[in-house]
Amino acid sequence: MRYKTKQINVGGVLIGGDAPISVQSMTYSKTRDVKSTLEQINRLYFAGADLVRCAVFNKEDITGLCEIKKQSPLPIIADIHFNFTYAVAVADFVDAIRINPGNIGGKAHIKAVVDACKKRNLPIRIGVNCGSLEKQFEERYGRTPEAMIQSALYNVSLLEDFDFSDIAISLKASDVPTTVKAYRQLRPLVKYPFHLGLTEAGTKFHASIKSAIALGTLLLEGIGDTMRVSITGELEEEIKVARAILQDSGRQKSGVNIISCPTCGRLQSDLVKAVKIVEEHTKNIKEPLNISVMGCIVNALGEAKGADIAIAFGKENGMIIKHGEIVARLAQDELIERFLIEIEEEVKARKA
Ligand code: SF4
Repeated sequence: MRYKTKQINVGGVLIGGDAPISVQSMTYSKTRDVKSTLEQINRLYFAGADLVRCAVFNKEDITGLCEIKKQSPLPIIADIHFNFTYAVAVADFVDAIRINPGNIGGKAHIKAVVDACKKRNLPIRIGVNCGSLEKQFEERYGRTPEAMIQSALYNVSLLEDFDFSDIAISLKASDVPTTVKAYRQLRPLVKYPFHLGLTEAGTKFHASIKSAIALGTLLLEGIGDTMRVSITGELEEEIKVARAILQDSGRQKSGVNIISCPTCGRLQSDLVKAVKIVEEHTKNIKEPLNISVMGCIVNALGEAKGADIAIAFGKENGMIIKHGEIVARLAQDELIERFLIEIEEEVKARKA
């Protein structure tokens, strides 16, 4: 089950409804540094991102973003705080705007942004962040899910007052329980798509775990339409982890799922090396493929039944199993090479 939400369109990427859950990230250079920002956008594109967000902090960033948009392979979301004139200016060329209408200075400013977005059918993401809540909500509810929800509803109402409904919402906190509660409790109250994420999640190890728990929980409950895994300074890793969370929560059917045994005292091969080779060789495969790599035959046959293609190592030899049928028994030094060929053939067959 997935919550049915209103569908919006960000530069050709559909978000919400029954659209695939998209993955996005954010560049970390100054946006006025066109060369560095474009270099990061290209890295994200090749890593498999669907969308990218760039901060607009001053007028030079607006000029830079205009140039970046011309060359970007990904739709661009402009991230703006406080200054509505920046939002109006970039609305001429970007694909969406992230801004909180509650902090841009009153109804006339909100109307100016809404009018600029309506002219080009641009969606607006309301980005509620637990660390920068409006004073009235923080004073009344503290830094709680309730405060985040009230802030989101308030910001939504400001846009709806101008008959604007191409909205996405995020509710980010830096801790897992607050984030999950906020998204979960807001979900039945609005029809708009959710951008999932944690904020200030930390470095690779911890951010991956926190994101897997928070985003994985929400995705399993059918919540979420687009997402970002925030990892300090690791663009490609953000996309890799996000895709893995989507795949392991059953929300993305494409790509390779590798099942490998943890190894134990029965192991009679260099399984760690074998898994790394298989992982490297299959990382760009888009077709859905379950691959099992097992260190001995104790569990291999059972795992192979659930895999499209499996390899099981024995003492000096091993076997390759495709769709439950043994297709080769070979010496260990020939096994991996043949396995990679069999994987390629399987992918070709699927494409055909
Ligand atoms: S598959 Fe074999 S080697 Fe791997 S953990 Fe299980 S028993 Fe050990």
